[in-house]
Amino acid sequence: MSHSSSKKLPTDPSVAVSAFAVDSRVNGPGRRVVVWVQGCTLACPGCFNPDTHAPGTAFVPVAALVRRILEARGPTTEGVTFSGGEPFQQATALAAVCAFVRRDWPAVSLFAFTGFTYEALRGPQAPPGAAGFLSHLDLLVDGRYEARAPDTRPWRGSTNQRLWVLGRRPAALTAERGRTAEIHVEPDGRVLLSGFPDAALRRAVEQLAR
Ligand code: SF4
Repeated sequence: MSHSSSKKLPTDPSVAVSAFAVDSRVNGPGRRVVVWVQGCTLACPGCFNPDTHAPGTAFVPVAALVRRILEARGPTTEGVTFSGGEPFQQATALAAVCAFVRRDWPAVSLFAFTGFTYEALRGPQAPPGAAGFLSHLDLLVDGRYEARAPDTRPWRGSTNQRLWVLGRRPAALTAERGRTAEIHVEPDGRVLLSGFPDAALRRAVEQLAR
């Protein structure tokens, strides 16, 4: 898809954002900007991010989120990852974010995690905007988290989840390390545990954050 540089950034819709990271190494190949959206109705038992399930209250206009992403990238940033929460429950807004990010950053790699299956996202019951959001993505990890079937492959929480290469295949895709985690400390002091931490690390960080 081509994107005209004369096109104006939309001021609506907005994205309910839970958290933002500028230099993550555990949410896809290479160094990435990560946007965690707020809101998910899928309720997978054992979900790592239960704080992101409630509907959002902090909405960021598409134009502002695009600017924040573009300002956050460094010279070696490979792409943007959308996680959550459930990105496909905000697919229309995120499709717009992807379109405008790629307009100004053509080489960007766009990656999303979703609890929906790829087939569901392409089917008649897909959430609104799913086809548009999918059309921008290079990589997708799909499927509900199943706590009884943990996985050790990069970026997958359980063995049912699949990595789809929908667009550009990153050079580092097969060379990535196994599952890893990282800790971000937000400017406001909030501690953010990201990636695929084991239960002991999750407990330790929860205690730190109290
Ligand atoms: S889809 Fe993702 S955020 Fe939603 S409950 Fe499942 S694992 Fe958690």
